[in-house]
Amino acid sequence: MGYSKLKIPKVCEYCRKPFEAKTVTTRFCSKECSHKADNARKKAERKEAKQQELIAQIPNNRPYISIAEAVLLFGISRDTIYRLVRMGKIPSINLGDRLTRISREHIETMFAPLEIVSIPTEKQSKKMDYSQEECYTIGEITDKFGVSPATVSNAIRRNSIPKKQVGKFVYVPKKEIDKIFASKK
Ligand SMILES: [Zn+2]
Repeated sequence: MGYSKLKIPKVCEYCRKPFEAKTVTTRFCSKECSHKADNARKKAERKEAKQQELIAQIPNNRPYISIAEAVLLFGISRDTIYRLVRMGKIPSINLGDRLTRISREHIETMFAPLEIVSIPTEKQSKKMDYSQEECYTIGEITDKFGVSPATVSNAIRRNSIPKKQVGKFVYVPKKEIDKIFASKK
């Protein structure tokens, strides 16, 4: 590993400006950008850890959950939840101003195995291989990795994993799911 006087044209991964790197592994144009990128990564990690912590605190046996809890658990937006409540698809109770509680069971059936209809799967399904050998159903994932349908649904959303609904079943590529849940097995 000699340090030659190479000048490798690169684009800074933080500020996006082109620069000339001295090594192939250089990712940032300056110490400052490297430092800022490092901070941004740490911040994202802290946020993720905080979210996981909050999710872990939500009891599994509470039939009604808050909007904030639903956002965390299912990775769906407040707007979506409120819309579903207004449409009468999710029963809610109102304990006061900003204290809406919604039925966890209903939201789980909606965002877990089936009826995921809002995401445009058409385009994705063309280039993806949705043959049965290459795909899991949600049920197969919960069995294989011992996770709840809600967790699976959440992971699919958060990671923007392409999926295809065929009849009663949602098919997702094994490759993508294995990547996410491999550590859980
Ligand atoms: Zn930079």
